[in-house]
Amino acid sequence: MWLRSQVRRATDHVLPGVWGAGRWVRGRMIPAVTAWGSPGKQRVLVVAPHPDDEVAGCGGTIILHVRAGDQVTVLHVTDGRRSRALGLGPEAMARRRHQEARESLAALGVERWTWLGLPGEWTDRDFVVALERLLPQVRPHVIYLPSRIDFHPEHYRVARAAAPVVRRLGGESIAVRVYQVQVPLTRVLVNLVAPIEAAVPDVLRAYGRYVSQAGSLRSTLRMKAYAARSHGLAGMAEEFWEMSGAAYAALHAQEPARALVDTFRGLRLPALTDPLGFLRGRRERRRLLRLATVAEDASTHAMSATAPQAHTRRRARAGGTEAGADEQP
Ligand SMILES: [Zn+2]
Repeated sequence: MWLRSQVRRATDHVLPGVWGAGRWVRGRMIPAVTAWGSPGKQRVLVVAPHPDDEVAGCGGTIILHVRAGDQVTVLHVTDGRRSRALGLGPEAMARRRHQEARESLAALGVERWTWLGLPGEWTDRDFVVALERLLPQVRPHVIYLPSRIDFHPEHYRVARAAAPVVRRLGGESIAVRVYQVQVPLTRVLVNLVAPIEAAVPDVLRAYGRYVSQAGSLRSTLRMKAYAARSHGLAGMAEEFWEMSGAAYAALHAQEPARALVDTFRGLRLPALTDPLGFLRGRRERRRLLRLATVAEDASTHAMSATAPQAHTRRRARAGGTEAGADEQP
């Protein structure tokens, strides 16, 4: 037992560096993607299925937005009571996560917070009604949404339910940025990267507030380190797949052909199998990229027919795709 834990500790210490070197090599072989930036005075909405997804997916980027003078609103959809960490019961866990979320958002510098706090059993309608109310209030230029490249049932439910609402109420120029939590988007899909190294001390403070989720959050820090290596950046970075609301809706127009847990794999607690998270589901990622690209083209075409001067963000295409970006660890 002692030997096993020592071996595991040693491999978890060494392997992320090895896998990160692989990401760096792979990243040098494909075109660079757009670097994150903000002109300031942007309204930003972050939709997090659980309290902690916002730090895992885009905590550093939230800090960059705040520092740029943007107005960030975070929506927590569920109260996270399904977590069994620390041996807490559902009610105690929900209270705990509410408190942790409050403290974590303060560390990120977020002042606008909507706690929907849906309990264990919830309907899509509960969430949709709240989002329909919130979107016209916030009127976001940018909205960060959960990924279709994920297997967590509640992440997927939130993404699927949000998609038609964002398309309908978000407006033509809204930029949807899909963030990753445990399942990597990979360079097949990533088309935007935020260098968050300067924000890391605050990111770690925000992470530290989610004491109850410390175990499950650990691998998401490795994800940020891999992201930095892939783009030749220092320390940590956060990757996104940016697209229009129309493209995001297209990704969710059909139910997945099979269980998502059979398609994708996430980074797990030990670092040993991290490369599998990048390798598994390549074909499905490419299929989804094609879906988004077709929807993007159709929507651009429709817009230019009605307003030729309108040039909004149209970026569902990923930089590495034309180069045939087969993902490797
Ligand atoms: Zn989550």
